[in-house]
Amino acid sequence: MTEASRKIPYTTSNSGIPVESDEHSLTVSADGPILLQDHYLIEKMAQFNRERVPERVVHAKGAGAYGVFQVTNDVSQFTRADLFQPGRRTRMLARFSTVAGEQGSPDTWRDPRGFALKFYTEQGNYDLVGNNTPVFFVRDPSKFQDFIRSQKRRPDNGLRDNDMQWDFWTLSPESAHMVTWLMGDRGIPKTYRHMNGYGSHTYLWVNAGGEKFWVKYHIKTDQGIDFLTQQEADELAGRNGDAHRRDLFESIRDGNPPSWTMYVQVMPFEDAPEYRFNPFDLTKVWPHGDYPLIEVGRMTLDKNPDDYFVHIEQAAFEPSNLVPGIGPSPDKMLLGRLFSYPDTHRYRIGPNYAQLPPNRAHSRVSSYAKDGPMRYEPAATARPYAPNSYGGPAADLASFGEPAGWRAAGEMVRAAYTLRAEDDDWGQPGTMVRQVLDDAARERLVSNVGGHLKDGVSRAVLERAVQYWRNVDKDLGDRIAAQVNGG
Ligand code: NDP
Repeated sequence: MTEASRKIPYTTSNSGIPVESDEHSLTVSADGPILLQDHYLIEKMAQFNRERVPERVVHAKGAGAYGVFQVTNDVSQFTRADLFQPGRRTRMLARFSTVAGEQGSPDTWRDPRGFALKFYTEQGNYDLVGNNTPVFFVRDPSKFQDFIRSQKRRPDNGLRDNDMQWDFWTLSPESAHMVTWLMGDRGIPKTYRHMNGYGSHTYLWVNAGGEKFWVKYHIKTDQGIDFLTQQEADELAGRNGDAHRRDLFESIRDGNPPSWTMYVQVMPFEDAPEYRFNPFDLTKVWPHGDYPLIEVGRMTLDKNPDDYFVHIEQAAFEPSNLVPGIGPSPDKMLLGRLFSYPDTHRYRIGPNYAQLPPNRAHSRVSSYAKDGPMRYEPAATARPYAPNSYGGPAADLASFGEPAGWRAAGEMVRAAYTLRAEDDDWGQPGTMVRQVLDDAARERLVSNVGGHLKDGVSRAVLERAVQYWRNVDKDLGDRIAAQVNGG
């Protein structure tokens, strides 16, 4: 029988050889021992044992889809990046995730959400690896590992521990803005479709004339912001742990592709040194009143992965993927991430991770990389060194320009950012509590914090936590104190 005349394909080994049975191993008589020459059985067992790659140490549980980014406004005066030029449409990949939970953890735990984007541009992959929050818990990469460990499991009993979380947060006042955000309504989005994304860091944009601008990205949901109360989220965690992954998949499958509108805040390059607080501090936002949002384009997620592992588990986002016209800023967290993301991909999915389907550039790749485990693209040139006189790739500074950067000079020190007039840790979260939240949202914030603090937090840490909240807002702190002490 030919393949074409069959209704279903015949089973083969991984090398394409037809197999004799889907169910029976090769034995000496029906009741006898299994033979080592049953290569198909051994291949099945060995493959199964190797089905998992290490899960991401953060952002392990996620969901994602492919889509398109369409430029809707002319921002060419600010950047020459190809993907942001008027009229451009660029294919892209998005992955959303929780942060601290493992692969099987519920989607509705209170946690920030990762908001990672990869744009397959004409000049290579541009990755914007953000969160659903415009700020973060710490501002120096040296504290990142400590922060994450305080949120994950204790080595002695394997349990997550609220005491550990509040111990770290209250000893790290720079966390206050992010913790206020996390404990508020946006700490548990209704679905991935109902949350905003933020680039969070400040980035550098450079236009065709070489002029520089600092930018912050805001990617606002077109579905509208919506959230789950703590009670709704707890109930959903037990009933449908994959609620957000399911929602994203089903809305795309059912012809309801979610979309987001991208905006940037643009700060003239020369404003930065004189601004009233450090504009590169990841624990701060730039007030909209100072730098209003400028529309850039719309992203629409229109294609589900046909294999979750291949396209989403193997997706490797890295803030170091910056294309001509976009550069980093002096944000220390960003500079740390430029190293740590590609490093974790090399460990998790191997040094040739850029060749995997979700990570492969849609434009031509002509790097001098070669060999290594799981390599399947041939080297770009048979003479793998530069410079060479045999037609190997040559860097084209004239076309793509100098790296986007800034001037830096000074003594080598280990020090916090130099403080400016408004560089305190409590001001912006206080503004959020007093001016952005309404009464009902403030009440839910008190209840969320109170509930969390009442669950296994020691007396000493509790006292510090109450003071932490009084520093954010005196009245809020008093109400939290009343809740944890009262009942
Ligand atoms: P604005 O009044 O212009 O902005 C307030 C912003 O707060 C809104 O645009 C919205 O951001 C966001 N927001 C609304 N409800 C909530 C909520 N429940 N939890 C978290 N964020 C919410 O004021 P400013 O720009 O002067 O900022 C005032 C404060 O607002 C800041 O201190 C910061 O805490 C917070 N904020 C500011 C942002 C910024 O980039 N300027 C962004 C987000 C929050 P969005 O439109 O992005 O949904």
